[in-house]
Amino acid sequence: MVIAIDGPAGAGKSTVAKKVAKLLGMFYLDTGAMYRAFTHYVIAKKADLDNKSEIKKLLEGFELSISQDNVRANGKDITKEIRWENVTTNVSYISSIDFVRNKMVELQREIGKNKDIVVEGRDIGTVVFPDTRYKFYLDADVVERAKRRLKDKKNEEKKVSMLAMKEKIQKRDQYDSTRDNSPLKQANDAVLIDSTHMTIDEVCKYIINKVKG
Ligand code: C5P
Repeated sequence: MVIAIDGPAGAGKSTVAKKVAKLLGMFYLDTGAMYRAFTHYVIAKKADLDNKSEIKKLLEGFELSISQDNVRANGKDITKEIRWENVTTNVSYISSIDFVRNKMVELQREIGKNKDIVVEGRDIGTVVFPDTRYKFYLDADVVERAKRRLKDKKNEEKKVSMLAMKEKIQKRDQYDSTRDNSPLKQANDAVLIDSTHMTIDEVCKYIINKVKG
């Protein structure tokens, strides 16, 4: 069983997906963390981001291990590092590269083979698990999303102003939704949830009720 939760940055996908997974006894998979992990790896290796063949080589030697709480790249725990600003700034570009997406999608499907999972990302309902019955598109007003991002303890960009955060989010959403390969978009059969005026618990309850049908 796969519950797919897609949506733009800061809509609350991680918090909601984690909680729904816990309540239903399912595995939680954060696919953004996978793209972030590779982006961190590329930056740490001081690769030239314009050099696709260099990035491809790095991908060949990249070993990802992801649990519900930790992300490891080639054995090194980088759970905190993947939230750093230099990763957030470059992740949309790295994740728009075809061969990067192909590898991550393959890994995501592999993880979903043996487990019941709640998966959050940008292309889960459209590309990664298009056949699942349970698809949600979680959205919220951009000002609300910027507020949530600023409150997020894991987020390293605490000193950023509200306006700057709003602009950063908009820029990332724009990049993610206009790329050629599996852009951020609501699947035709996904249930849209506008969480602007909803609490986390209300969103979780709504999803669980839909799933239980
Ligand atoms: O969810 P999070 O904000 O951590 O995702 C970081 C970035 O990873 C997104 O802005 C997007 O560029 C990329 N991503 C993606 N496809 C996914 C999940 C994340 O392209 N399924």
